[in-house]
Amino acid sequence: MEVTLKQAGEIILKAKNIVLSSHVNPDGDNVGSTLGLYHALKGTGKNIKILLDDDLPDNLGMMKGLDLYQKPDKKLEGIDLMVILDVDIDRIGKVRDVVDAPVLNIDHHISNSKVCDFCYVDANAAATAQIVYSLIKEMGMDFNVDSATCLYTGLVSDTGFFRYSNTTPYTLRAAAELLEAGARPDKISEIFDQRSFSSVKAAGRAIGTIDLYHDGKIALMTVDKALKESADNTEGFVNFARNIRGVDVAVMIKYADENVTRVSMRSKNTNVSEVAQSIGGGGHIRAAGATVYKNLSQAKEIVLNAIIEGMKKQNA
Ligand code: 5GP
Ligand code: MN
Ligand code: MN
Repeated sequence: MEVTLKQAGEIILKAKNIVLSSHVNPDGDNVGSTLGLYHALKGTGKNIKILLDDDLPDNLGMMKGLDLYQKPDKKLEGIDLMVILDVDIDRIGKVRDVVDAPVLNIDHHISNSKVCDFCYVDANAAATAQIVYSLIKEMGMDFNVDSATCLYTGLVSDTGFFRYSNTTPYTLRAAAELLEAGARPDKISEIFDQRSFSSVKAAGRAIGTIDLYHDGKIALMTVDKALKESADNTEGFVNFARNIRGVDVAVMIKYADENVTRVSMRSKNTNVSEVAQSIGGGGHIRAAGATVYKNLSQAKEIVLNAIIEGMKKQNA
C-alpha cells in the first residue's frame, strides 16, 4: 500500500531491528540514500544492518559506513522492518531470500511496481537521497556531517552534478542545507570523478566502439567481455555516447555472462524508461536500463529495435 512520507517516518521510528538495502549494480544514489538514512538514525538505539547483493564501486570513499555492508549470505532472524531504497523489490537480489519482514520501499523510479507492504514513490524526486532528506526532516531529525555527505553524494550522482532535467529548486535548496550541515562539495566531486588508470584506458576503447544508427539519433557503445575485464568500473561510459551532438538516445550494451547482456540507456528526448520496460527493465525517463538474456549481438538487435519502436510510438 502507498504511504505518506509522514507514515514512512512513523514506520521507521517504530521499528527496532531494521535492514536497509538497495539495488544490485550500486550507484551513488543507492549507497548515498542508504547510508544517509543510516547516519540519521544512528544514536536512536536501533539495530541497523545493511545488506547488498553486490560489491561496492571504489569511487564512494567520502561516505562513512561502507565497511558496514554485508552480503546476504545467511538468513536473518528477528528483523522488524526492511527498508529498500532507490529500487523496486525485483532488483535487490538474494536479500529478498534472507529477510522475512515487512518491506518499506522508498524510491523515485517511475517504473516502480508499488507492490511492497509500504510504498513511498515520488517519481518527481531527483534522487532517492532527496526523498531521504525530506524524510529525515519529516521525522524531526537533524543532519550530521555523515548523513549530509552521503545524501549530497546521492543528489550529485543522479542529477549529474545538478545538470539533468530532474534538478529542481527544491533539489538545490536541499543541497544547500546539506552543505550547511557539513558536506564538502569539492571533496565529494573529487573522489566521485576519480577513476583508475585502467578504467580511463577502457573508456577510450569503449568510445572507439560507438556507432550511430537511425539517422544519427541513436549512439550505441559495446563493451564486450575482454573490454569489461580490462575495466574495473564502466559507470558513466554511456555519457560519452550521450554527449554526441544530434544523438537522442545513447545506449551501452555490456557483456555480463554468456547470453546475459546489461543495457544502459540515456536520452535527451525519448522516454527510455518505457523502452527499458518493453525489454524487461525499467528506470527513469532519461536514464534507464535492463538485462537482456541474449548474447551481445542478439541483444544489440533487440535493443535497437526497441528504441526505434519506442521513438515511433512516442512521436505518433
Ligand atoms: P544504469 O544505466 O546507470 O545502470 O541505470 C540507469 C537507471 O535505470 C538507474 O536509475 C537504474 O536504477 C535503472 N535500471 C537500470 N537497470 C535496470 C533494470 O534492469 N531494471 C530496472 N527496473 N531498472 C533498471
Ligand atoms: Mn540507483
Ligand atoms: Mn536514484
